[in-house]
Amino acid sequence: MALIVQKYGGTSVGSVERIQAVAQRVYQTVKAGNSLVVVVSAMGKTTDGLVKLANEISPNPNRREMDMLLSTGEQVTIALLSMALQELGQPAISMTGAQVGIVTEAEHSRARILHIETSRLNRHINAGKVVVVAGFQGISSTQEMEITTLGRGGSDTSAVALAAALQANFCEIYTDVPGILTTDPRLVPEAQLMDTITCNEMLELASLGAKVLHPRAVEIARNYGVPLVVRSSWTDDPGTWVISTKSKGRSLINLEIARPVDAVEFDTDQAKVALLRVPDKPGVAARLFGEIARQKVDVDLIIQSIHEGNSNDIAFTVTTPILNRAEAVAAAIAPALRSPSNPKSDEAEVMVENNIAKVSISGAGMIGRPGVAAKMFATLAEAGVNIQMISTSEVKVSCVVDAAECHRAVTALSKAFEIEAEENDAVTQGCGDTKRVFDNFSVSPRLPIFASPTPPVRGVALDLNQARLAIRQLPDKPGMAAKLFGLLAQHNISVDMIIQSQRCHVIDGIPRRDIAFTVSRIDGENAKQLLTQVATEVGWGEVVLDSAIAKVSIVGTGMVGQPGVAAKMFEALAQQQINIQMIATSEIKISCVVAQDQGVKALQAIHSAFGLAGTEKFVVPA
Ligand code: ADP
Ligand code: ASP
Ligand code: MG
Repeated sequence: MALIVQKYGGTSVGSVERIQAVAQRVYQTVKAGNSLVVVVSAMGKTTDGLVKLANEISPNPNRREMDMLLSTGEQVTIALLSMALQELGQPAISMTGAQVGIVTEAEHSRARILHIETSRLNRHINAGKVVVVAGFQGISSTQEMEITTLGRGGSDTSAVALAAALQANFCEIYTDVPGILTTDPRLVPEAQLMDTITCNEMLELASLGAKVLHPRAVEIARNYGVPLVVRSSWTDDPGTWVISTKSKGRSLINLEIARPVDAVEFDTDQAKVALLRVPDKPGVAARLFGEIARQKVDVDLIIQSIHEGNSNDIAFTVTTPILNRAEAVAAAIAPALRSPSNPKSDEAEVMVENNIAKVSISGAGMIGRPGVAAKMFATLAEAGVNIQMISTSEVKVSCVVDAAECHRAVTALSKAFEIEAEENDAVTQGCGDTKRVFDNFSVSPRLPIFASPTPPVRGVALDLNQARLAIRQLPDKPGMAAKLFGLLAQHNISVDMIIQSQRCHVIDGIPRRDIAFTVSRIDGENAKQLLTQVATEVGWGEVVLDSAIAKVSIVGTGMVGQPGVAAKMFEALAQQQINIQMIATSEIKISCVVAQDQGVKALQAIHSAFGLAGTEKFVVPA
């Protein structure tokens, strides 16, 4: 006998017949000897309909009232499903988030769960009832009783959090697709089903646009070791298991906000190669990284900043033993990358920086919790460490810094994020080793979970809801990233793909660089206004917003240490004549920004380039 949490999404409960079908499945699961808590979404597109109604009254509705409105959708479904179960003779009771005691932050429209009271739930479960809980909602505190919502798609998060709090045997997410596929089958019908995926891969995919799971649900599954499976509501097929390593006993207090960082890592065995002034046209990155891959050089981080004039800067890091080869390749192809329109003045230039180190914080939910990266940048600023390159991902934020500052950076970060270094000799003695992880996690999240070789790319995701912001001429000194991203974090704005230009301009006697990053499109205007105000006060340059972008990403733990993965992605885009506007990578993902109207084409090209397409076509039911 197991305790199972099942969650049914909007399409799965989209009509009376579908609710009855869900009731049947629940009933059968109970008859098989299990206890059940069922979390449901609002029926069909109810939540979208409610948002539309609100927008007919106000372009910018009050967030408290919005939560009041949106939380009603789930309340309809819980009552109907309970009735359907009772009709089958199965005792059931519906409960809102408040009735359960799903206590969240007092942050309307994107509240995080602080804790879940289990006594009422357990009482009903022990009385043999199925408890049907409204997903996506909670209350600010048991005194205030303000209704909050967790953010769109948040019912997944409610379900996994309930499974963690109840220490359920597993959590099943029932949806309108057979499980987690290599990409969205609505955009690429040849997408293939995966049997398993690691939590870290799924976290990246979810945060990069794969809507099948809410990233915060994966974060909770990972942190609490909740076995999680995504399955079809229409069949009995096994679906896709999301594999997490068993975590050390983690407190259920401050469930979604406690300890975001598990480890501080560093790597001094790194060098940076930057190519300045390469032409801004399709195929350039493909040529450069194609040649690098042919020379078997494994690149780690890659960034391509937004263009300045009609040229770009591309920078990448490699391990020092292969630096010479990488540098030679870059130097050899630099002349070939010269802009034909202006071969002399636009000459591409190769810059090599040997004395660098990469320092990283890793955990879960780095992008989803904007305060975490901001705290990392602030900690480095306080330690007087200048950041040369930034790489963000949902499971890791890395900064490239001067090697001489590595020790200071690691010590400061370990302290700031309360990482107890079991063997903290390297922290106290300096970065004597070239690589080290200090963690509070039983298994390093860097370790691949499967012994069998995994393909380099597991999934491809497209995010059409992003905007790009660029700030010109930020002084190149410690504290700039901290100021900028601290401000955005204060306003709960998450950023990704942070890229500092490699070119430095001296203006008013101060060396300055541009910085660009992506945010959710809904945050774009607000972020622009906030930053324009600061820019004027402190003398930064212009703040530019571009909302017509698409972000396409590949994810896979197997790409670590495999040369040629980036080259293949860039080549797929070049073949379609798609210009890459920005590139940013982390260890297990590569993201490119392209023009919005080329997003779907880019996704399809990349998915097929990595051989992920199957022979069967998926048709997602309406
Ligand atoms: P639910 O209402 O059940 O929560 P969602 O619409 O939120 O369902 O999520 C399921 C949808 O996610 C699918 O219909 C599919 O279009 C989309 N999706 C995006 N990426 C993927 C992927 N990699 N695998 C499966 N589905 C995906
Ligand atoms: N009903 C909410 C939404 O549409 C929550 C969910 O379905 O997960 O976003
Ligand atoms: Mg969903």
